[in-house]
Amino acid sequence: MTFDIDAIANRRRLLAGLGGLGLMGAAGCAPGQLARPEPMAGLGDFDTLPRLAPIRMRPDRISKITVCLRPFRKAGPRLDVETVGDKTVVHNYGHGGSGWSLSWGSGTIAAKNALSTGERDIAVIGCGALGLTTATLLRRAGANVTIYASERTPDTRSARATGTWSPDSRIAAVGATAPGFEAQWEQMCRTSYAAFQTYLGLAGDPVEWTDRYSLFDNPPGPGRATPHDPNGVRFVEYVDRVRDITPRSLDLAPGSHPFPTPYARRGTAMQFNIAEYAHLLMTDYLLAGGKIETMTFHTPADLAALKQKVVVNCTGYGARALWKDESIIPVRGQIAWLIPQFEVHYGLYYKGVSILARRDGIVVQQVGQTEAWGYNDDSEVASRSEAEDAIATIAALYGRGRTPAA
Ligand SMILES: Cc1cc2nc3c(=O)[nH]c(=O)nc-3n(C[C@H](O)[C@H](O)[C@H](O)COP(=O)(O)OP(=O)(O)OC[C@H]3O[C@@H](n4cnc5c(N)ncnc54)[C@H](O)[C@@H]3O)c2cc1C
Repeated sequence: MTFDIDAIANRRRLLAGLGGLGLMGAAGCAPGQLARPEPMAGLGDFDTLPRLAPIRMRPDRISKITVCLRPFRKAGPRLDVETVGDKTVVHNYGHGGSGWSLSWGSGTIAAKNALSTGERDIAVIGCGALGLTTATLLRRAGANVTIYASERTPDTRSARATGTWSPDSRIAAVGATAPGFEAQWEQMCRTSYAAFQTYLGLAGDPVEWTDRYSLFDNPPGPGRATPHDPNGVRFVEYVDRVRDITPRSLDLAPGSHPFPTPYARRGTAMQFNIAEYAHLLMTDYLLAGGKIETMTFHTPADLAALKQKVVVNCTGYGARALWKDESIIPVRGQIAWLIPQFEVHYGLYYKGVSILARRDGIVVQQVGQTEAWGYNDDSEVASRSEAEDAIATIAALYGRGRTPAA
């Protein structure tokens, strides 16, 4: 398994040794220096690892704490089409912990559904990951598109995501999906993966690949067992369907890596630097002639006020209230942001805490022991103690053994 920063999916894959979609990062060394620990006699080849800059893992470097709710539906995202008054409503919400990762694939399905009506003047409700992407695809297809939303980036929930490729993170529950959903997921995953490759190498690194290191005090267990979830929900795991586009993780022999734990694994995963990526999406959409209007809808009947006959509903967690869709279960996640470190380009996972070095900050996230961490918790209030505990877990690594304090 891989550890992808969005969370537990990462740990899950990491433990399974698949190297999959997620990744980890490396713990570092002294401030401003490159980690180059003393080799242990007769063990390992340090030249297989790049030098790793230290992460300054201290609570005084917290610049903000953000909280976000993943819109999880046991059946998977809602992608059907319905009629409301004189409007055709194309749904595109409920992507759990995979909204960014699946955005292009899911948006492709929604855009196709909208265009199949024959209409070329289309409204999109929502300006998060799904709304922006779907609107972009519709605009590229030649439609006149207006986004209507209460908030736009950087104020949406999407803007508070981790920013890692995690296409099957809390995307559905085992036994709750319709026939064909798994194949549809694969299609969304592959479409998105291909789209993200076109954002590599651009100024500001909206999308990039980074190494992640998962660290263990004991040998990570074999197999791919899903940890027992106290809430009784078992999240689907589809990563095996896309192994051909998923880098494998690699066990690093004791002594062959700079970390103070005996066991370490390295994976490589795609990362979204969301501040830049969302800004780029919005700029491109506006430059292409797309429009955005600030508007709040209180009930589906409010859609009647729109001039467009076709409306794509990308309201994310907001669909729970707007569409009275109580099948949406919140899965809370909190990020403590440390001041960005330009020289750090890796992720790290240790004892239920994940770290991702983004260009706009060091993401520190308590991810718990299963993907159910935060399940059915709709509190969007930040917890300073949760943030400090997560930092302390990683900081403890720096005080141990060979890794100097940062
Ligand atoms: C802590 C955390 C980390 C995550 N990390 C990742 C990750 O690394 N990778 C990944 O792929 N996914 C990740 N996710 C999941 C991802 O963030 C979500 O799946 C995604 O944000 C959903 O996007 P959305 O566009 O559907 O919803 P939102 O971003 O919530 O956007 C909804 C839009 O609809 C508008 N809206 C809602 N209701 C109304 C209304 N009534 N009237 C008008 N406008 C309305 C809002 O203003 C907003 O513009 C993470 C989630 C969390 C909580």
